[in-house]
Amino acid sequence: MTTRHYDVVVLGTGPAGEGAAMNAAKAGKRVAVIEASPRVGGSCTHLGTIPSKALRHAVKEIIAFNTNPMFRDIGEPRWFSFPKVLDRANRVIDKQVLGRTEYYARNRIDVYFGRGRFKDANTIEVNTYEKGPEELVAEKVVIATGSRPYRPANIDFTNPRIYCSDSILTLSHTPRSLIIYGAGVIGCEYASIFCGLGVRVELINPGKKLLSFLDDEITDALSYHLRDGGILIRHNETYESIDASEREVVVNMASGKKLRADALLFCNGRSGNTESLGLENVGIETNSRGQLAVSDTYQTTVENVYAAGDVIGWPSLASAAYDQGRSVAANMLGLEGGHYISEVPTGIYTIPEISSVGKTEAELTAEKVPYEVGRAFFKNTARAQITGEAVGMLKILFHRETLEILGIHCFGDQASEIVHIGQAIMKQPGELNTLKYFLNTTFNYPTMAEAYRVAALNGINRVF
Ligand SMILES: Cc1cc2nc3c(=O)[nH]c(=O)nc-3n(C[C@H](O)[C@H](O)[C@H](O)COP(=O)(O)OP(=O)(O)OC[C@H]3O[C@@H](n4cnc5c(N)ncnc54)[C@H](O)[C@@H]3O)c2cc1C
Repeated sequence: MTTRHYDVVVLGTGPAGEGAAMNAAKAGKRVAVIEASPRVGGSCTHLGTIPSKALRHAVKEIIAFNTNPMFRDIGEPRWFSFPKVLDRANRVIDKQVLGRTEYYARNRIDVYFGRGRFKDANTIEVNTYEKGPEELVAEKVVIATGSRPYRPANIDFTNPRIYCSDSILTLSHTPRSLIIYGAGVIGCEYASIFCGLGVRVELINPGKKLLSFLDDEITDALSYHLRDGGILIRHNETYESIDASEREVVVNMASGKKLRADALLFCNGRSGNTESLGLENVGIETNSRGQLAVSDTYQTTVENVYAAGDVIGWPSLASAAYDQGRSVAANMLGLEGGHYISEVPTGIYTIPEISSVGKTEAELTAEKVPYEVGRAFFKNTARAQITGEAVGMLKILFHRETLEILGIHCFGDQASEIVHIGQAIMKQPGELNTLKYFLNTTFNYPTMAEAYRVAALNGINRVF
């Protein structure tokens, strides 16, 4: 076995690991990354964010072709199979892997493919796929091993009709009907994707409303539009057992119902990838979901070991994981820019798309903040009329005395882009973060950004 020495060793090449490795390498440190999969990118690139967003984009294009009357001049509506749209996602994955592989090479970061395991707090053993066992000794170690779908022991995931959000990407046909158990972000996004492919979808929500962390008006709109698209949503339902035969899958609900479909997608929770890390050799403990506790500098209970990304739990988003990784490197190496990521926008790629930043109406009401609401409906904006993407709304919540912007909530086409205009203004210091920006600034026309001006005027009229 060869022993190699580094300043920093990072476990995992998802966004958290990549952010940490790149920032440390830019600071002139000798960096190695270890990746258990045969390609870099993390589950973000191979199983999560990228494939699901690429699938969703392809489905949106199919919907546009099938529903826009203009295309009837060139052909009748057509339905594409799941494997066909998956092809497109795989092409995006390949491009991402190529780009990310180059980043590591360009920054002189050594990449070891194999599963890393702590021997002690400074030593990681990895049985590499190419060269066999190696031992990496480092001053600092970053755990960025991500998460995987939670798979309850009483569900047989080896059955070809039962999938989790990882294995759904191996589906080699298009089922006629699909039960999605778990109505979190992943469940709702896949409900939109399969519904868009013409699959009969039932979405089972153990909670009482969809995505309850969102503003109520947005949650209501999402429920309406998912149902309008044909999805059957069942709230407050839990499963008791799941049976799968050659013909179908049957979900036996605690309420006594028996739900039948061609396939089941179970996506109810995730667990941190920590079980094979040898954490017992360094004295780091995990919670019951396999996640690690960290300080506000992302340090674990062991001084030289840091952690970032899904493995530390909230918010479990690629967007935050990358920034967390960069902050880890800054904190542990004494560089500028290290901070704890506490404010994260929400981007939910359902159809329609949802995005928000800041407080919800319910939060502001509970905090007794005197706020007011300004709204703009996409159907009234010229740009949405031109693109035919008329479903949607932008809502600005602002302080009725200072006009400070307190929350932006948006649903509809490009919502996750649109929200960043509001986010940028919210981040401005002093009096610059108020509604006045949208009242006094000339925007391109026609754009979706116009919705900010319309919402600001709508809101200010409620105040004066
Ligand atoms: C279906 C789905 C859709 C999503 N959509 C979005 C979205 O639209 N926007 C968004 O911001 N987030 C989204 N997410 C969440 C996002 O994918 C994760 O938050 C992100 O991947 C976390 O990054 P990470 O670096 O912590 O871990 P990961 O991306 O999970 O990478 C961790 C890596 O560590 C490796 N690893 C594990 N154990 C070891 C070991 N012992 N040694 C070496 N390597 C190891 C794994 O192989 C993996 O490659 C989605 C997730 C899913 C599942």
